[in-house]
Amino acid sequence: MNYADKISDQVGKVPRSGIRDFFELVIGRDDVISLGVGEPDFPTPWNIRAKAIESLEKGQTSYTSNLGLLSLRKEIAKYCSKVFQVDYDAESEVLITVGVSEALDLALRALLNPGDEVIYHAPCYVSYSPSVVMAHGVAVEVTTKKEDGFALTPEAVAAAVTDRTRVLMLNFPTNPTGAVCSREQLEGIAKVAIENDLIVLTDEIYSELRYDEEEHVSIASLPGMRERTILLHGFSKAFSMTGFRLGYSCAPAPLTEAMMKIHQYSMLCAPITSQVAALEALENPATMDSVESMRQDYKLRRDFVVRRLNEMGLECHLPGGAFYVFPDISRFGLTSQEFALRLLEEEDVAAVPGTAFGEGGEGFLRCCYATAFDQLEEAMDKMEAFVGRL
Ligand code: PLP
Repeated sequence: MNYADKISDQVGKVPRSGIRDFFELVIGRDDVISLGVGEPDFPTPWNIRAKAIESLEKGQTSYTSNLGLLSLRKEIAKYCSKVFQVDYDAESEVLITVGVSEALDLALRALLNPGDEVIYHAPCYVSYSPSVVMAHGVAVEVTTKKEDGFALTPEAVAAAVTDRTRVLMLNFPTNPTGAVCSREQLEGIAKVAIENDLIVLTDEIYSELRYDEEEHVSIASLPGMRERTILLHGFSKAFSMTGFRLGYSCAPAPLTEAMMKIHQYSMLCAPITSQVAALEALENPATMDSVESMRQDYKLRRDFVVRRLNEMGLECHLPGGAFYVFPDISRFGLTSQEFALRLLEEEDVAAVPGTAFGEGGEGFLRCCYATAFDQLEEAMDKMEAFVGRL
């Protein structure tokens, strides 16, 4: 049978994730130090795990409401009010999802008609462009540059707008560059969104992981933006809960309702054990102490990795957030893919070729520093030896 004929055009158009492809080479190799997958090395804080265990012991294994447990939605609304300075109604404007991944997919499917354009800044998280394509949209990349610290300018967004543009997708701090966006820049971007009547999807998944002195600002909090913004956030990164698969979206009720329709038919609800765990994460003040202690640890690791990379001649800007560095490897005359493959083969260090995050990632490598300090030290020594031979 010709299976290619049987698969939808949209899915056929989408490539496999460059991260997954690369990491298939690493599976089963215990000798490899991985700076690859964007996943915290810390276990989920114990109070959260304990609550999940307790809920299972009590037999809490049912479905929940499609939107998610109301008690959790109320805590999320409180959290967003405190952290992002935006108020949402827990009953009608918060939807609990299976990670930010699901929320992103729901938002795009709820918003796009075939051929609608979505502007996003790249290098970016691997799923953005495929998610747009699978929702029958057209992904329009605005490439950010190393010289600007991978920042997004209002001018670049304005230049990409056409009469088919419907959505602008933002992610600060950014995966894979760690770039952040100042209030001033966001105000300029918000102006472009308002002038062109765009809906903004803001992926705030790394918002707690900032290392610079500036406050983190969500575009949703700027004047005139709440009504046109879908704020996506979740527990995977700062709370170290990737495997719980829990995220959420906050948006005006009609947008939340549209997303909820897709969610109720495709997912029904997020797992109750994860929802109970997330409730504990937000209710118990001890969690934020754990989040802060992980953040401080990431900051030390970031400073160490950036210093070592620059010393060995891999020019690397100081990222303001997330847990990635994005060094420039272009001067060695190898493509990102060749550099990453040779680093893996010759030194047993796995990092992701920059091209996995868009064409603008050619000439770069993404290294995730959510890895134990001694492993990072060894990885940097090995990279230095590798670079020395090139
Ligand atoms: N958004 C960004 C920018 C990410 O980097 C990731 C994971 O790496 C996700 C979303 C996925 O998050 P979740 O685990 O909540 O689905």
